[in-house]
Amino acid sequence: MNRVIVVGGGLAGVRAVEALRRKGHEGEVILVSAERHRPYDRPPLSKAVLAGDADDTTVEVDWDDLRCETLLGERATALRPGDPRGGTVVTTAGELEFDGLVIATGATPITLPGHGAQHVLRTIDDARDLRARLTPGVRLVIVGAGWIGAEVATTAARKGCSVTVVEAADAPLSGAIGPEVGALTARWYGEAGVELRTGVKVAAVEPGSLLLADGDRVAADAIVVGVGVRPELGWLDGSGVEIDGGVATDAAFRVTVAGTPRSDIVAVGDCAAWWSNRYGRRLLVEHWDTALNAPAVAAATLVGEDAEYDPVPYFWSEQFGRMVQYAGHHPVAERTLYRGDPDGSKWSVCWLTGDRLDAILTVDRPRDLVQARRVMTAGTPVDPDLLADPERPVRET
Ligand code: FAD
Repeated sequence: MNRVIVVGGGLAGVRAVEALRRKGHEGEVILVSAERHRPYDRPPLSKAVLAGDADDTTVEVDWDDLRCETLLGERATALRPGDPRGGTVVTTAGELEFDGLVIATGATPITLPGHGAQHVLRTIDDARDLRARLTPGVRLVIVGAGWIGAEVATTAARKGCSVTVVEAADAPLSGAIGPEVGALTARWYGEAGVELRTGVKVAAVEPGSLLLADGDRVAADAIVVGVGVRPELGWLDGSGVEIDGGVATDAAFRVTVAGTPRSDIVAVGDCAAWWSNRYGRRLLVEHWDTALNAPAVAAATLVGEDAEYDPVPYFWSEQFGRMVQYAGHHPVAERTLYRGDPDGSKWSVCWLTGDRLDAILTVDRPRDLVQARRVMTAGTPVDPDLLADPERPVRET
């Protein structure tokens, strides 16, 4: 394999470049990324960067050592896979032939209809732009009480903004962790001085206000839309690449083109829906840990090694002064069980099927998270009665 093209310069893209070199790939590597910035970490954007405690989250990488050509501010516009191997990526910098390809184009925030200005939070430029608007007394309206909405509300309230969060579902985080557990986070908003309005549908973003589906308006000096992201896949139209929510891959991140799994084309990070043998389904996990760790497996596939990605998914969120962590995959579970009082400050919720621990969400109980992750990774059974005692560690029976 001579030339590998990595499309997308986020965390997954840069980790793919590093992993390729670590795996001994000696050929050319070219990273094409639509952003003008070198790869940087996104989690601090809604936390330290928005708060003004950090301004640069560039991933530390020795580009010379990696011998990687970076085409920044350039965009892939089409993919022409060769048959049976290799192909061409059409980019704004010209056509690039490849022997190996990493698709790591991440995801883009969904926006709402309307002519009013809407802030989204995906890039460092978005974060700096929004940060400049967060001054005391500013009426900030956030659409969406998901992970991003909660984190932006946290920072904005701390900066003295008057914050209202408008959520279509009946509870925050319903889509991510279900309405039962999501509802337990609702009081955090009020305690932080943030008004949370649930069950409210937005029709459009207008200049100076949100127009609601019932005809009411919510006045705003600035509006942040945090209603989710969609994988960045438009450039793959017509390429024959199989899509299943994201770029559909097997457990080794092989992409299927025109019905054939290809070991020379892989997809990773927020744009990829990979087959999980652990859960027997495709997962599209739009979180940092996957972007960090999956590229090593994808690079192994490209260099011809046998590899499989089979983790217990993990992510965290920092909201309203709390560290919230999650591991596992709760949609497969039958029931929930609490460790500690969810009306208190530190608690965890476990999702179980029989004596199998499927997932855990912890609020300021990091030890529970570490222990539960270990149990889930090993796949060992737990005793639900013992698990319900927050004084005991989370461990197998
Ligand atoms: P991205 O980071 O989206 O990178 C993709 C890159 O590809 C982008 O630079 C994009 O411009 C480029 N690109 C797109 N299309 C093209 C094209 N056609 N041609 C060339 N380049 C292209 N996760 C957690 O687990 N915990 C957190 O607390 C957390 N906080 C977050 C806070 C914010 C504000 C955001 C935005 C994300 C957060 N995440 C968090 C999620 C995590 O950051 C993402 O899962 C991770 O960044 C995904 O990395 P990626 O490389 O797959 O995609």
